Amino acid sequence: MSKVVIPVTPAGRGLPIPPHDAAGPPGRPADRLGRGIRDLRISVTDRCNFRCTYCMPKEVFGPDYPYLPHAEILTFEEIVRLARVFHGLGIRKIRLTGGEPLLRRGIEDLVAMLFEALPDVDLTLTTNGSALRQKAVALHSAGLRRITVSLDSLDDATFRAMNDADFPVAKVLDAIDFAASAGLAPVKVNMVVKRGTNDAHVVDMAKHFRGTGHIVRFIEFMDVGATNGWRMDDVVPSAEIVRRIGEFFPCEPTNPNHAGEVAKRWRYLDGQGEFGIISSVTEAFCSSCNRARLSTDGSLFTCLFAERGFDLKRLVRSGAPDEDIARAVAAIWHQREDRYSEIRTAETAKARKVEMSFIGG
Ligand code: SAM
Ligand code: SF4
Ligand code: SF4
Repeated sequence: MSKVVIPVTPAGRGLPIPPHDAAGPPGRPADRLGRGIRDLRISVTDRCNFRCTYCMPKEVFGPDYPYLPHAEILTFEEIVRLARVFHGLGIRKIRLTGGEPLLRRGIEDLVAMLFEALPDVDLTLTTNGSALRQKAVALHSAGLRRITVSLDSLDDATFRAMNDADFPVAKVLDAIDFAASAGLAPVKVNMVVKRGTNDAHVVDMAKHFRGTGHIVRFIEFMDVGATNGWRMDDVVPSAEIVRRIGEFFPCEPTNPNHAGEVAKRWRYLDGQGEFGIISSVTEAFCSSCNRARLSTDGSLFTCLFAERGFDLKRLVRSGAPDEDIARAVAAIWHQREDRYSEIRTAETAKARKVEMSFIGG
Protein backbone atom coordinates (compact mmCIF):
# COMPACT_ATOMS: atom_id res chain seq x y z
CA MET A 1 0.00 0.00 0.00
CA SER A 2 1.35 3.45 -0.84
CA LYS A 3 1.94 5.63 2.17
CA VAL A 4 -0.56 8.41 2.79
CA VAL A 5 0.83 11.41 4.62
CA ILE A 6 -1.82 13.82 5.75
CA PRO A 7 -0.38 17.09 7.00
CA VAL A 8 -1.89 17.50 10.43
CA THR A 9 0.19 20.52 11.28
CA PRO A 10 -1.67 23.58 10.15
CA ALA A 11 1.59 25.52 9.87
CA GLY A 12 1.04 28.58 7.73
CA ARG A 13 -2.68 27.82 7.62
CA GLY A 14 -3.57 29.50 10.92
CA LEU A 15 -6.87 31.34 11.00
CA PRO A 16 -6.63 35.12 11.21
CA ILE A 17 -7.05 36.37 14.75
CA PRO A 18 -10.07 38.70 14.77
CA PRO A 19 -9.55 42.38 15.58
CA HIS A 20 -9.35 42.90 19.30
CA ASP A 21 -9.98 46.17 21.03
CA ALA A 22 -6.87 47.83 22.44
CA ALA A 23 -8.80 49.34 25.34
CA GLY A 24 -10.28 47.73 28.43
CA PRO A 25 -9.90 44.29 29.98
CA PRO A 26 -11.37 41.34 28.07
CA GLY A 27 -13.53 40.11 30.99
CA ARG A 28 -15.07 36.62 30.83
CA PRO A 29 -15.95 36.00 27.21
CA ALA A 30 -19.01 34.07 26.08
CA ASP A 31 -19.26 32.71 22.57
CA ARG A 32 -22.11 33.24 20.08
CA LEU A 33 -24.06 30.39 21.67
CA GLY A 34 -23.59 31.84 25.17
CA ARG A 35 -20.92 29.34 26.26
CA GLY A 36 -18.09 30.48 28.52
CA ILE A 37 -14.54 29.13 28.53
CA ARG A 38 -13.73 26.90 31.51
CA ASP A 39 -11.76 23.86 30.37
CA LEU A 40 -8.39 23.97 28.60
CA ARG A 41 -6.73 20.92 27.06
CA ILE A 42 -3.07 21.31 26.31
CA SER A 43 -1.31 18.93 23.94
CA VAL A 44 2.31 18.81 25.12
CA THR A 45 3.59 16.55 22.35
CA ASP A 46 2.35 15.27 19.00
CA ARG A 47 4.34 12.04 19.44
CA CYS A 48 3.26 8.74 20.90
CA ASN A 49 4.73 5.28 21.46
CA PHE A 50 1.36 3.63 20.65
CA ARG A 51 -0.29 3.46 17.26
CA CYS A 52 -3.92 3.09 18.32
CA THR A 53 -5.77 2.26 15.15
CA TYR A 54 -8.48 4.84 15.87
CA CYS A 55 -6.02 7.66 16.60
CA MET A 56 -2.55 7.30 15.02
CA PRO A 57 -2.81 4.46 12.52
CA LYS A 58 0.58 3.03 11.57
CA GLU A 59 -0.04 3.44 7.84
CA VAL A 60 -0.11 7.21 8.31
CA PHE A 61 2.05 7.73 11.40
CA GLY A 62 5.00 5.71 10.08
CA PRO A 63 8.75 6.21 10.64
CA ASP A 64 8.87 9.14 8.19
CA TYR A 65 5.94 11.01 9.64
CA PRO A 66 6.74 14.75 9.86
CA TYR A 67 6.32 15.48 13.55
CA LEU A 68 6.77 19.02 14.74
CA PRO A 69 10.35 20.24 14.99
CA HIS A 70 11.43 21.17 18.51
CA ALA A 71 11.48 24.91 17.77
CA GLU A 72 7.77 24.84 16.88
CA ILE A 73 6.70 23.26 20.16
CA LEU A 74 5.62 25.54 22.99
CA THR A 75 8.16 25.69 25.82
CA PHE A 76 7.01 25.10 29.40
CA GLU A 77 7.32 28.83 30.09
CA GLU A 78 5.10 29.63 27.10
CA ILE A 79 2.54 27.04 28.18
CA VAL A 80 2.38 28.45 31.70
CA ARG A 81 2.10 31.98 30.38
CA LEU A 82 -0.80 31.06 28.12
CA ALA A 83 -2.43 29.05 30.91
CA ARG A 84 -2.37 32.17 33.11
CA VAL A 85 -3.94 34.21 30.34
CA PHE A 86 -6.69 31.61 29.87
CA HIS A 87 -7.21 31.49 33.62
CA GLY A 88 -7.93 35.20 33.58
CA LEU A 89 -10.66 34.53 31.02
CA GLY A 90 -12.38 31.83 33.09
CA ILE A 91 -10.43 28.57 32.73
CA ARG A 92 -10.70 26.46 35.91
CA LYS A 93 -9.69 23.06 34.61
CA ILE A 94 -6.57 22.07 32.67
CA ARG A 95 -5.88 18.68 31.15
CA LEU A 96 -2.40 17.82 29.85
CA THR A 97 -2.64 15.46 26.93
CA GLY A 98 -1.18 14.72 23.51
CA GLY A 99 0.13 12.49 21.84
CA GLU A 100 1.48 10.77 24.90
CA PRO A 101 2.15 13.49 27.49
CA LEU A 102 4.50 11.36 29.59
CA LEU A 103 6.87 11.25 26.62
CA ARG A 104 7.49 14.99 26.95
CA ARG A 105 10.77 15.30 28.81
CA GLY A 106 10.35 16.88 32.25
CA ILE A 107 6.55 16.72 32.20
CA GLU A 108 6.59 16.71 36.00
CA ASP A 109 8.35 20.09 35.90
CA LEU A 110 5.52 21.49 33.80
CA VAL A 111 3.00 20.09 36.30
CA ALA A 112 4.91 21.77 39.14
CA MET A 113 5.04 25.08 37.27
CA LEU A 114 1.30 25.02 36.51
CA PHE A 115 0.42 23.96 40.03
CA GLU A 116 2.44 26.82 41.48
CA ALA A 117 1.11 29.40 39.01
CA LEU A 118 -2.55 28.37 39.22
CA PRO A 119 -3.24 26.55 42.50
CA ASP A 120 -7.03 26.87 42.16
CA VAL A 121 -7.10 25.09 38.81
CA ASP A 122 -8.23 21.46 38.61
CA LEU A 123 -5.14 20.00 36.93
CA THR A 124 -5.23 16.56 35.37
CA LEU A 125 -3.52 14.47 32.70
CA THR A 126 -4.53 11.73 30.26
CA THR A 127 -2.00 8.99 29.50
CA ASN A 128 -1.76 5.61 27.85
CA GLY A 129 -0.11 4.42 31.08
CA SER A 130 3.03 3.01 29.47
CA ALA A 131 5.38 5.28 31.44
CA LEU A 132 3.13 5.89 34.41
CA ARG A 133 4.90 3.56 36.81
CA GLN A 134 8.12 5.53 36.34
CA LYS A 135 6.41 8.93 36.54
CA ALA A 136 3.54 8.59 39.05
CA VAL A 137 5.45 9.57 42.20
CA ALA A 138 7.13 12.56 40.54
CA LEU A 139 3.80 13.74 39.08
CA HIS A 140 2.11 13.50 42.46
CA SER A 141 4.98 15.32 44.19
CA ALA A 142 4.67 18.04 41.55
CA GLY A 143 1.04 18.64 42.52
CA LEU A 144 -0.98 16.38 40.23
CA ARG A 145 -3.92 14.82 42.07
CA ARG A 146 -5.96 13.24 39.30
CA ILE A 147 -5.16 11.15 36.27
CA THR A 148 -6.95 9.39 33.40
CA VAL A 149 -5.51 6.22 31.92
CA SER A 150 -6.67 4.83 28.59
CA LEU A 151 -7.30 1.09 28.34
CA ASP A 152 -9.46 -0.30 25.54
CA SER A 153 -9.80 -3.93 26.58
CA LEU A 154 -8.80 -6.38 29.30
CA ASP A 155 -8.30 -9.01 26.65
CA ASP A 156 -4.58 -8.96 25.95
CA ALA A 157 -4.74 -9.86 22.26
CA THR A 158 -7.43 -7.26 21.58
CA PHE A 159 -5.59 -4.55 23.48
CA ARG A 160 -2.26 -5.30 21.78
CA ALA A 161 -3.99 -5.14 18.39
CA MET A 162 -5.73 -1.86 19.21
CA ASN A 163 -2.61 -0.08 20.49
CA ASP A 164 -0.68 -1.68 17.59
CA ALA A 165 2.50 -1.45 19.64
CA ASP A 166 2.14 -4.90 21.19
CA PHE A 167 1.75 -3.31 24.61
CA PRO A 168 0.27 -5.71 27.21
CA VAL A 169 -2.80 -5.11 29.38
CA ALA A 170 -0.97 -6.25 32.53
CA LYS A 171 1.42 -3.29 32.42
CA VAL A 172 -1.41 -0.77 32.18
CA LEU A 173 -3.29 -2.43 35.05
CA ASP A 174 -0.11 -2.39 37.11
CA ALA A 175 0.39 1.31 36.30
CA ILE A 176 -3.18 2.10 37.38
CA ASP A 177 -2.64 0.39 40.75
CA PHE A 178 0.72 2.03 41.19
CA ALA A 179 -0.64 5.50 40.34
CA ALA A 180 -3.46 5.02 42.84
CA SER A 181 -1.03 4.00 45.58
CA ALA A 182 1.07 7.06 44.75
CA GLY A 183 -1.94 9.28 45.54
CA LEU A 184 -3.52 9.70 42.11
CA ALA A 185 -6.72 7.87 43.12
CA PRO A 186 -9.40 7.42 42.05
CA VAL A 187 -8.12 6.81 38.53
CA LYS A 188 -10.38 7.39 35.55
CA VAL A 189 -10.07 4.73 32.86
CA ASN A 190 -10.99 5.61 29.26
CA MET A 191 -12.20 2.86 26.93
CA VAL A 192 -12.96 3.77 23.32
CA VAL A 193 -15.61 1.33 22.12
CA LYS A 194 -15.49 0.21 18.51
CA ARG A 195 -18.02 -2.24 17.11
CA GLY A 196 -16.58 -5.60 16.16
CA THR A 197 -13.24 -4.71 17.76
CA ASN A 198 -13.71 -4.46 21.52
CA ASP A 199 -17.43 -3.97 22.15
CA ALA A 200 -17.69 -7.57 23.40
CA HIS A 201 -15.44 -6.54 26.31
CA VAL A 202 -17.52 -3.69 27.70
CA VAL A 203 -19.13 -5.74 30.46
CA ASP A 204 -15.78 -7.29 31.49
CA MET A 205 -14.33 -3.83 31.82
CA ALA A 206 -17.25 -2.64 33.95
CA LYS A 207 -16.99 -5.77 36.09
CA HIS A 208 -13.24 -5.43 36.63
CA PHE A 209 -13.40 -1.86 37.92
CA ARG A 210 -16.67 -2.09 39.89
CA GLY A 211 -16.00 -1.72 43.58
CA THR A 212 -12.41 -0.48 43.10
CA GLY A 213 -13.20 3.23 43.34
CA HIS A 214 -11.77 3.76 39.83
CA ILE A 215 -14.22 5.02 37.22
CA VAL A 216 -14.38 3.61 33.70
CA ARG A 217 -15.61 5.97 31.00
CA PHE A 218 -16.90 4.33 27.85
CA ILE A 219 -16.28 6.61 24.86
CA GLU A 220 -18.04 6.39 21.52
CA PHE A 221 -15.59 6.01 18.65
CA MET A 222 -15.34 9.47 17.07
CA ASP A 223 -14.54 10.80 13.63
CA VAL A 224 -11.68 12.95 14.89
CA GLY A 225 -8.91 13.72 12.42
CA ALA A 226 -8.86 12.49 8.88
CA THR A 227 -6.98 9.22 9.11
CA ASN A 228 -8.81 6.74 11.32
CA GLY A 229 -11.26 5.43 8.72
CA TRP A 230 -14.28 6.26 10.88
CA ARG A 231 -17.66 4.87 9.86
CA MET A 232 -20.94 5.34 11.68
CA ASP A 233 -21.38 1.56 11.62
CA ASP A 234 -18.36 1.23 13.93
CA VAL A 235 -19.96 3.39 16.61
CA VAL A 236 -21.63 1.57 19.48
CA PRO A 237 -24.29 3.99 20.75
CA SER A 238 -23.93 4.76 24.43
CA ALA A 239 -27.53 3.63 25.05
CA GLU A 240 -26.48 0.17 23.90
CA ILE A 241 -23.42 0.21 26.16
CA VAL A 242 -25.56 1.11 29.17
CA ARG A 243 -28.10 -1.55 28.28
CA ARG A 244 -25.43 -4.24 28.03
CA ILE A 245 -23.87 -3.30 31.38
CA GLY A 246 -27.31 -2.96 33.00
CA GLU A 247 -28.21 -6.54 32.07
CA PHE A 248 -25.46 -7.75 34.40
CA PHE A 249 -25.19 -4.89 36.88
CA PRO A 250 -28.37 -2.85 37.37
CA CYS A 251 -27.61 0.85 37.27
CA GLU A 252 -29.26 4.27 37.11
CA PRO A 253 -28.23 7.73 35.90
CA THR A 254 -26.92 10.06 38.55
CA ASN A 255 -26.33 13.81 38.77
CA PRO A 256 -23.39 15.46 37.02
CA ASN A 257 -20.54 16.63 39.26
CA HIS A 258 -20.67 20.03 37.60
CA ALA A 259 -22.39 21.86 34.74
CA GLY A 260 -20.97 20.99 31.32
CA GLU A 261 -19.53 17.63 32.47
CA VAL A 262 -18.81 15.59 29.36
CA ALA A 263 -19.30 12.12 30.83
CA LYS A 264 -22.81 11.12 31.85
CA ARG A 265 -22.62 9.35 35.21
CA TRP A 266 -24.29 6.02 35.93
CA ARG A 267 -24.20 4.40 39.37
CA TYR A 268 -24.56 0.75 40.22
CA LEU A 269 -27.66 0.07 42.30
CA ASP A 270 -25.71 -2.26 44.61
CA GLY A 271 -23.43 0.58 45.70
CA GLN A 272 -20.34 -0.68 43.85
CA GLY A 273 -19.51 2.70 42.39
CA GLU A 274 -20.15 4.30 39.03
CA PHE A 275 -19.15 4.44 35.38
CA GLY A 276 -19.29 7.21 32.79
CA ILE A 277 -20.49 7.42 29.21
CA ILE A 278 -19.13 9.88 26.67
CA SER A 279 -21.55 9.91 23.79
CA SER A 280 -20.18 12.59 21.54
CA VAL A 281 -21.69 10.95 18.46
CA THR A 282 -25.19 9.81 19.39
CA GLU A 283 -25.98 12.40 22.08
CA ALA A 284 -23.95 15.49 21.29
CA PHE A 285 -23.23 17.89 24.13
CA CYS A 286 -22.14 20.95 22.12
CA SER A 287 -24.67 23.23 23.81
CA SER A 288 -22.66 23.14 27.04
CA CYS A 289 -19.19 22.80 25.50
CA ASN A 290 -16.82 25.16 27.27
CA ARG A 291 -13.56 23.55 26.14
CA ALA A 292 -10.65 25.16 24.37
CA ARG A 293 -7.65 23.27 23.02
CA LEU A 294 -4.07 24.41 22.74
CA SER A 295 -2.17 22.35 20.18
CA THR A 296 1.44 21.26 20.60
CA ASP A 297 2.59 24.16 18.42
CA GLY A 298 0.57 26.76 20.27
CA SER A 299 -2.57 27.11 18.15
CA LEU A 300 -5.95 27.63 19.77
CA PHE A 301 -8.69 25.30 18.53
CA THR A 302 -12.24 26.04 19.61
CA CYS A 303 -13.57 22.59 18.65
CA LEU A 304 -12.16 19.06 18.64
CA PHE A 305 -13.30 18.73 15.04
CA ALA A 306 -11.84 21.96 13.72
CA GLU A 307 -9.80 22.07 10.55
CA ARG A 308 -7.69 25.06 11.54
CA GLY A 309 -6.57 26.87 14.66
CA PHE A 310 -5.49 30.37 15.66
CA ASP A 311 -1.73 30.82 15.93
CA LEU A 312 -1.23 32.09 19.49
CA LYS A 313 2.44 31.11 19.50
CA ARG A 314 3.21 33.76 16.92
CA LEU A 315 1.56 36.34 19.16
CA VAL A 316 3.44 35.06 22.23
CA ARG A 317 6.78 35.11 20.40
CA SER A 318 6.13 38.53 18.89
CA GLY A 319 6.54 40.06 22.32
CA ALA A 320 2.85 40.91 22.77
CA PRO A 321 1.95 41.67 26.39
CA ASP A 322 -0.41 39.33 28.26
CA GLU A 323 -3.32 41.79 27.98
CA ASP A 324 -3.04 41.71 24.19
CA ILE A 325 -3.04 37.93 24.13
CA ALA A 326 -6.03 37.86 26.48
CA ARG A 327 -7.95 40.25 24.23
CA ALA A 328 -7.07 38.15 21.19
CA VAL A 329 -8.32 34.95 22.87
CA ALA A 330 -11.48 36.74 24.01
CA ALA A 331 -12.10 37.97 20.45
CA ILE A 332 -11.64 34.44 19.09
CA TRP A 333 -14.00 33.05 21.72
CA HIS A 334 -16.62 35.76 21.07
CA GLN A 335 -16.93 34.67 17.45
CA ARG A 336 -17.04 30.91 18.25
CA GLU A 337 -20.11 29.06 17.01
CA ASP A 338 -18.82 25.47 16.82
CA ARG A 339 -21.33 22.67 17.24
CA TYR A 340 -19.82 20.00 15.03
CA SER A 341 -21.27 16.95 16.80
CA GLU A 342 -24.78 18.35 16.62
CA ILE A 343 -24.57 18.80 12.86
CA ARG A 344 -22.36 15.83 11.94
CA THR A 345 -23.12 14.15 8.62
CA ALA A 346 -21.32 11.54 6.53
CA GLU A 347 -19.92 14.47 4.51
CA THR A 348 -18.57 16.50 7.45
CA ALA A 349 -16.94 13.33 8.77
CA LYS A 350 -14.76 13.29 5.65
CA ALA A 351 -13.38 16.81 6.20
CA ARG A 352 -9.64 17.29 6.72
CA LYS A 353 -9.96 17.85 10.45
CA VAL A 354 -6.87 18.22 12.58
CA GLU A 355 -5.57 15.00 14.20
CA MET A 356 -6.37 14.33 17.85
CA SER A 357 -2.75 13.58 18.76
CA PHE A 358 -1.84 17.11 17.66
CA ILE A 359 -4.74 19.05 19.12
CA GLY A 360 -5.06 17.03 22.34
CA GLY A 361 -7.77 14.52 23.19
N1 SAM B 1 -2.05 9.26 24.69
C1 SAM B 1 -2.92 9.56 25.76
C2 SAM B 1 -3.98 8.50 25.90
O1 SAM B 1 -4.18 7.71 24.98
O2 SAM B 1 -4.61 8.47 26.95
C3 SAM B 1 -3.57 10.92 25.64
C4 SAM B 1 -4.00 11.39 24.29
S1 SAM B 1 -5.38 10.49 23.59
C5 SAM B 1 -5.58 11.34 22.06
C6 SAM B 1 -6.72 11.04 24.61
C7 SAM B 1 -7.95 10.17 24.61
O3 SAM B 1 -8.56 10.26 23.34
C8 SAM B 1 -7.68 8.70 24.88
O4 SAM B 1 -8.47 8.23 25.94
C9 SAM B 1 -8.07 8.05 23.58
O5 SAM B 1 -8.57 6.76 23.76
C10 SAM B 1 -9.11 9.01 23.03
N2 SAM B 1 -9.30 8.90 21.58
C11 SAM B 1 -8.36 8.95 20.62
N3 SAM B 1 -8.91 8.81 19.39
C12 SAM B 1 -10.24 8.66 19.59
C13 SAM B 1 -11.36 8.47 18.72
N4 SAM B 1 -11.22 8.39 17.41
N5 SAM B 1 -12.59 8.37 19.27
C14 SAM B 1 -12.76 8.45 20.61
N6 SAM B 1 -11.75 8.65 21.48
C15 SAM B 1 -10.50 8.74 20.98
FE1 SF4 C 1 -1.24 7.50 21.42
FE2 SF4 C 1 -3.26 8.12 22.98
FE3 SF4 C 1 -3.55 8.29 20.34
FE4 SF4 C 1 -3.32 5.90 21.44
S1 SF4 C 1 -4.98 7.38 21.79
S2 SF4 C 1 -2.20 6.62 19.64
S3 SF4 C 1 -1.98 6.28 23.13
S4 SF4 C 1 -2.22 9.52 21.57
FE1 SF4 D 1 -17.42 20.95 21.74
FE2 SF4 D 1 -16.91 20.74 19.14
FE3 SF4 D 1 -17.23 18.54 20.62
FE4 SF4 D 1 -19.33 20.11 20.07
S1 SF4 D 1 -18.14 18.95 18.62
S2 SF4 D 1 -18.80 19.22 22.07
S3 SF4 D 1 -18.35 22.13 20.08
S4 SF4 D 1 -15.57 20.05 20.83
